[in-house]
Amino acid sequence: MLEVKHLAKSYQKDKPALTDINFKIDPGNFVAIIGPSGAGKTTILRSLNQLIKDDAGEILLDGEDIRSANKSELRKLRRQIGMIFQNYNLVERLTVLENVLHGRLGYKSTLAGVMGRYTEDEKREALDLLDKVGLSEFALQRCSELSGGQKQRVGIARALIQHPKVILCDEPIASLDLASSQVVMKMLKDLIQELNIICIANLHQIDLAKEHADQIIGIRHGKMVFNDVADKLDQAA
Ligand code: ADP
Ligand code: ADP
Repeated sequence: MLEVKHLAKSYQKDKPALTDINFKIDPGNFVAIIGPSGAGKTTILRSLNQLIKDDAGEILLDGEDIRSANKSELRKLRRQIGMIFQNYNLVERLTVLENVLHGRLGYKSTLAGVMGRYTEDEKREALDLLDKVGLSEFALQRCSELSGGQKQRVGIARALIQHPKVILCDEPIASLDLASSQVVMKMLKDLIQELNIICIANLHQIDLAKEHADQIIGIRHGKMVFNDVADKLDQAA
């Protein structure tokens, strides 16, 4: 379970970007964070993987406060937190399979000879994940040849190969058309449930959040203005 208590952050004195953020998420749940630009959505995600230091509060992942982790603990914790990006962050000239393996041990593979560094088990697992995201037949194609939606599905497989407890998605569908967005959202939701992990996605598209997310967190001016199941959003709006 992921539990955030009284999280607060200011980048500049007297200008809070986040104030008293509280939420709990159980495994298997897909949570959308929605709110206007500048509301604080990205700041929440960056706090969750400790890319920025928040000022106060607790972030408990299965009871362990990630804010008090030392450097080596943090490295271990980060492996339990996968990331998916708006612009995919793939290595375009490498193959789909190589990009998925990259998620496993980014530090193991550097430039040439990516494949030789992985065991047969690791390759088999990468291929299984590509099957799950419907990209088996693209395994040996370069990422540069894929559509946006296909690239994001590679991003999902790359995040999952690490066996994370949590996946953080920063605007995962902002670069996609509606049809691809639907495919990616449904795929994320189904995989999260199947693997019993937590997924938190910053989204601009309220309709898609309502359609696919189990829980919606609404943020405005750094404050939580909504935290409930998607169905309740209409009454609140
Ligand atoms: P998004 O809307 O996707 O969250 P923004 O356009 O708000 O992104 O921010 C883009 C980048 O600029 C981010 O890295 C963010 O941290 C940084 N940024 C945003 N606002 C400020 C600011 N007032 N001062 C310095 N950096 C900022
Ligand atoms: P969102 O993701 O909802 O667009 P952000 O979390 O990026 O919002 O930003 C929340 C607030 O913090 C905004 O007022 C933004 O300008 C400010 N901010 C974000 N990043 C920085 C930064 N690196 N330095 C200073 N201010 C920032």
